[in-house]
Amino acid sequence: ERRFHAANTTQTGTLALGQPRSRESGSVSCIVPSHNEARNLEQLLPRLRDTLAACAQAWEVILVDDGSSDATSLVLAKWAQTPGFRALLLSRNFGKEAALTAGLEAARGDAIVMMDADLQHSPSLLPIFLQHWRQGRDVIYALREDRQDESPFKRLGTRLFYKLVNMAGRFEVPAGAGDFRLMDRAVVTALLSLPERNRFMKGLYAWVGFDALAVPYMPEGRLHGKTAFNPWNLIRLSVDGLTGFTTWPLRAVSVMGFVLACFALLYGAYLTAVYLLYGHAISGWTTIAVGLMGFSGIQLLSLGVVGEYVGRIFEEVKGRPIYVVKRELGQGLRKAD
Ligand code: UDP
Ligand code: MG
Repeated sequence: ERRFHAANTTQTGTLALGQPRSRESGSVSCIVPSHNEARNLEQLLPRLRDTLAACAQAWEVILVDDGSSDATSLVLAKWAQTPGFRALLLSRNFGKEAALTAGLEAARGDAIVMMDADLQHSPSLLPIFLQHWRQGRDVIYALREDRQDESPFKRLGTRLFYKLVNMAGRFEVPAGAGDFRLMDRAVVTALLSLPERNRFMKGLYAWVGFDALAVPYMPEGRLHGKTAFNPWNLIRLSVDGLTGFTTWPLRAVSVMGFVLACFALLYGAYLTAVYLLYGHAISGWTTIAVGLMGFSGIQLLSLGVVGEYVGRIFEEVKGRPIYVVKRELGQGLRKAD
């Protein structure tokens, strides 16, 4: 059983949230998931340290090495000796969502910020995030202003994905709201109480609710290296999101089956009538061949949709941990001097 689940769930299973705290003197944890980011971290971390020292009374930076194969772990080990910096080295590459979860579980601050290591998430937004948090907002996230830098194909895919995932209703996963955000401790407690292994973070943020404020920003280009999210990974992430947050594809399969059965019944009646009226005529091979292939295709597709959900159930029931920490370095939480 996960630590946070036990600690934060009351007898009735509801979450006990919202103890009043002073946010003026609250501490800040900043989580940076890193996969082969040695060169970027050397640039980001000094800036991050200066920004945090200027705008927070107590702060820590939690660096998560997500199984890098470059010098990232060396850079992290060096920085973990600096006051305020801690490093979690995962035992292999678990993916960004897992690395973020590792950081969230390790964070001790009253406000928790997450940002990428590649300087696409500028530390200059942190003072703005913190200001809104101190004024009482629970979630402040950076909203991508424009996607002009992306290919039309990717933009279309993104639009389609948000349309599909939001067909579930009740809560909405906003497009353009990524992982660059500040969350109050209460929000993080709620996030960590969700036990699923499929950590589609954008969906989880939306599920826990809370009043969120969007701060528009223009993402800069990646400083060094290239993105881990190629089209194939993005499709996989989208399927994770869809299966984790919707069940309507399953219902769509039943509706499709019903409609096709009705259609077949009508067509059968029509063929019978033609036979009775005009007698027997040997034709219609095309109809049979096309019908056979079409319906087989639809059956396999439906089986695939169901299979996706069964696969997720398999992943969940195994109950494996989301990540494994190889080593933990540094002390963290630096008080302002
Ligand atoms: N990342 C990670 N594990 C991975 C892939 C990426 O921790 O398996 C980190 C990466 O180091 C970066 C952040 O996630 O800090 C965002 O990755 P990237 O820049 O590749 O994604 P994009 O900006 O294109 O969405
Ligand atoms: Mg990036």
